[in-house]
Amino acid sequence: MVHVAALRCKECSREYPVGAFNVCDFCFGPLEVVYDMEAIGDIASRERIMSGPYSLWRYADFLPAEYNPLVDINAGFTPLIRSRGLAERLGLEELWIKNDSVNPSYSFKDRVVAVATAKALELGFETLACASTGNLACSVAAHAARAGMTAYVFIPSDLEAGKVLGAAIYNPTMIAVNGSYDDVNRLCSELADQYQWAFVNINVRPFYADGSKTLGYEVAEQLGWRAPAHAIAPSASGAMFTKIYQGLKEFEQTGIIDNVETRMHCAQARGCSPIATAYEEGRFVIRPVKPATIAKSLGIGNPADGYYALKTIEASGGSAVIAEEHEVAEGIKLLAQTEGIFTEGAGGVAIAGLKRLVERGEIQPDEPTVVYITGNGLKTTEIVSDVVHPILIEGTVSAFEQHVGVKA
Ligand SMILES: *Cc1c(COP(=O)(O)O)cnc(C)c1O
Ligand SMILES: [Zn+2]
Repeated sequence: MVHVAALRCKECSREYPVGAFNVCDFCFGPLEVVYDMEAIGDIASRERIMSGPYSLWRYADFLPAEYNPLVDINAGFTPLIRSRGLAERLGLEELWIKNDSVNPSYSFKDRVVAVATAKALELGFETLACASTGNLACSVAAHAARAGMTAYVFIPSDLEAGKVLGAAIYNPTMIAVNGSYDDVNRLCSELADQYQWAFVNINVRPFYADGSKTLGYEVAEQLGWRAPAHAIAPSASGAMFTKIYQGLKEFEQTGIIDNVETRMHCAQARGCSPIATAYEEGRFVIRPVKPATIAKSLGIGNPADGYYALKTIEASGGSAVIAEEHEVAEGIKLLAQTEGIFTEGAGGVAIAGLKRLVERGEIQPDEPTVVYITGNGLKTTEIVSDVVHPILIEGTVSAFEQHVGVKA
């Protein structure tokens, strides 16, 4: 049973019936899902969660769509790994890595798309669509394939080959738009008005966004039913960041965990940092930028939830941090070489951001800290291709010893 009460405008609080809308008719504010938290609190328990499936659907009581096996490719319930090497390198005693790069289509976007797709089917849609910075296209195409839906995915034309292929393999109609993500999004917003399609991050965005709450629930469960002192997450639109905190707070509100005092830290890359720059300048007004970052999955110049991400930072006593462009590849390599986890540009931004927060003294060595690794490195091989230099030899022991210089 779904415990959704209504959709509500985040600005003027007007309520709307549940449907495929994302904008308030009166003030143009964004809509969000309102839950009957009392009803959820009455039934939710740790035991009930633990008896659920090993996917994000173990938190179905807190989600806006019913579990539907037709769309399930097992998104969520990814590993939370206690860091050794990276923690030691940074001087942290309790660092955890939430490895969401091992989702079915290799990014956290499977969480939001799983929920959006289930809701789209409930609402009677037959076509799934999205405006994507790359990972979303992969996930929408995969979920549509599973659900037997038609898929249209819109991407900027300069995307990494791994993301284009990672979506194309599922055979969606793929449209590469000459321009940035923000141009793609503008086009899709117009199309969403004219076509009866579920654009996961436009007309069904309120449901979509709530899939990211599971990144909060899951970490709390995996930490043994407690919230971390710090969470670091890479941000593009700011939606995931905002929803991680909402998830932790809902667990507190319903008595699943207590004492959520998590400070939320938002990481962006220098070439597209509208949220972090607003934070640094002490503004709550986002000044849109033209994205020019190697972390293409974070290339949203006009972030829809930027303001709410800033509010989350404020409410949680967190911060925002900017990774320099050259630090992105360094962050990817550092994580790979200390922990055996290969992430994409967004993960490089998160690791570089974590490093800076420790250097600044914002994270103390004994504070439990979680860093969110949201996408897989095999989709953005371009960024770190400089590590590839195998030693080419003939297949003999002497050639090995001559070229590699190791003796038995
Ligand atoms: C989309 C994406 C993000 C950012 O998500 P937002 O909700 O738009 O802030 C972070 N990391 C990866 C890998 C992504 O694909
Ligand atoms: Zn409104």
